Amino acid sequence: MASEAKVSVRRYHLYINGEWVGSSSGRFIPVMDPSTEEIIAEVPDANEKDVNRAVAAAKAAFDSGAWHETTAQERGRILFRLAERVRKEAGMLAELEARNSGKPIVEAEYDINDVATCFEYYGGLATKVLGHVNPVPDNALSLSLREPIGVAAQIIPWNYPLLMAAWKLAPAIAAGCTCILKPAEQTPLTALEFANWLPEAGLPPGVVNIITGYGESAGAPLVLHPDVNKIAFTGSATVGKIIVKAAADTVKRVTLELGGKSPNIFFADADFESAIDGALFGVFINQGEVCSAGSRILVEKPIYTKFVEAMAAKAKTIRLGPPLERETKMGPLVSKDQYDRVRSYQEVGKKEAKLAAGGGRAASMPKGYYVEPTIFYDVDNSARIAQEEIFGPVAAVIPFANEAEAIRIANDTPYGLAAAVWSRDIFKTFRVVKAIRAGIVWVNHMQPTYVEAPWGGYKQSGFGRELGPSGIEEYLETKQVHINLNEQPIGWY
Ligand code: NAP
Ligand code: MG
Repeated sequence: MASEAKVSVRRYHLYINGEWVGSSSGRFIPVMDPSTEEIIAEVPDANEKDVNRAVAAAKAAFDSGAWHETTAQERGRILFRLAERVRKEAGMLAELEARNSGKPIVEAEYDINDVATCFEYYGGLATKVLGHVNPVPDNALSLSLREPIGVAAQIIPWNYPLLMAAWKLAPAIAAGCTCILKPAEQTPLTALEFANWLPEAGLPPGVVNIITGYGESAGAPLVLHPDVNKIAFTGSATVGKIIVKAAADTVKRVTLELGGKSPNIFFADADFESAIDGALFGVFINQGEVCSAGSRILVEKPIYTKFVEAMAAKAKTIRLGPPLERETKMGPLVSKDQYDRVRSYQEVGKKEAKLAAGGGRAASMPKGYYVEPTIFYDVDNSARIAQEEIFGPVAAVIPFANEAEAIRIANDTPYGLAAAVWSRDIFKTFRVVKAIRAGIVWVNHMQPTYVEAPWGGYKQSGFGRELGPSGIEEYLETKQVHINLNEQPIGWY
């Protein structure tokens, strides 16, 4: 394999208890560059035995020793050191992320910057976790203490590999938890590189462990393990449902960040040029492999025809290319599986609606998992392409007659992750914002996401909130302490 590939195949290991170790099976999973279809690395195919080792390390680190004694100030400083290292190595990380996931290098650079910002944010927040005094009607001091939940298993997807790792690791470390992170099998490389810097940042062995492998063999045993106290999962709704059920037997705390089919709503009074850009950016950023993709584009009838035409014309100019070229605006999809999935939805769409742009493989790219940015219009909201998460550059444009109809269509989905509203009328806009059942609603924009603000879904898009102050809450328990201040005997008997 290594001899026939033009690129060198780097072999990685599992990171358990501060050491790089092989998997108990000795098997490896190939990791691809989706723009060349070549293998660029291989990572261990971990199984239950490896998971057990990692959980034992995480539990031991939580229960006693240096981490158990650590102060919030020390944890904050560790996070700042990690952020600094990420900033120093940003070029290497962005390049590796782009090569492994297929995302354009410029987008990967944004992601890596956000990774560092996330560690900085939770570095600062570590010392702002406050308990409180409860006003009980007795001569007693009633305290609420905040304590780390314990061992957290963190299972993440492939679309924002290191950023999803940061969203999970940073608040967990700030809270004082210990972690086992399982990256997606397609995109584990940046998280493994990142692990190299954990010891020098001051993290004792066992605080962060990284297990690579498939969901069924490495993810599932983590979810079942009795010593894991919390699961933080980002991924598909299908797997999210499996995880909630599997976590029930041991009553684990679970947070789920699942998919979406988010409406991007354009009223006729919106600024037209910004609207077209916003519609395209909302659905095609990161090749459409975005949980909050504005994949249902709802357009008010007076501007509908002009809108579809302008969108289609501009979509045809989107520059597809190798992820490492700075001019590239859209790279390949992450894997052959994802490519096949998106291609099949392009065919479903041709039967369900009218095609305005794209609809096939990107002919300009001879190799790699490239598909054309694709726009369907006259889509009925009950169509599969309007109800099912495609997770690729496929947009469904749906006309609406008035505000009430826009709201009805927007909410007519099992999901509730995100939405956007475009209009110059603040009163109408706010009525729509309030009526929409989603965890985030953008106004006159779509997609900006900030570490400082909460992120998560309504309905089947999940529960719990990452980022912002809520992000650390999900890693904390509350302990009530009652201190009797009466010196006399209780006097009951
Ligand atoms: P996925 O198939 O659900 O996988 C997510 C993670 O779960 C992967 O690490 C996967 O492992 C693992 N997994 C699979 N089966 C498992 C099981 N039975 N037990 C434990 N873990 C298991 O999702 P994906 O295809 O990687 O990512 C795309 C999905 O993520 C989309 O639905 C998207 O909307 C969602 N997403 C949501 C957000 C958000 O913030 N709401 C952000 C990004 C992505 P392997 O794949 O390695 O086998
Ligand atoms: Mg998967």
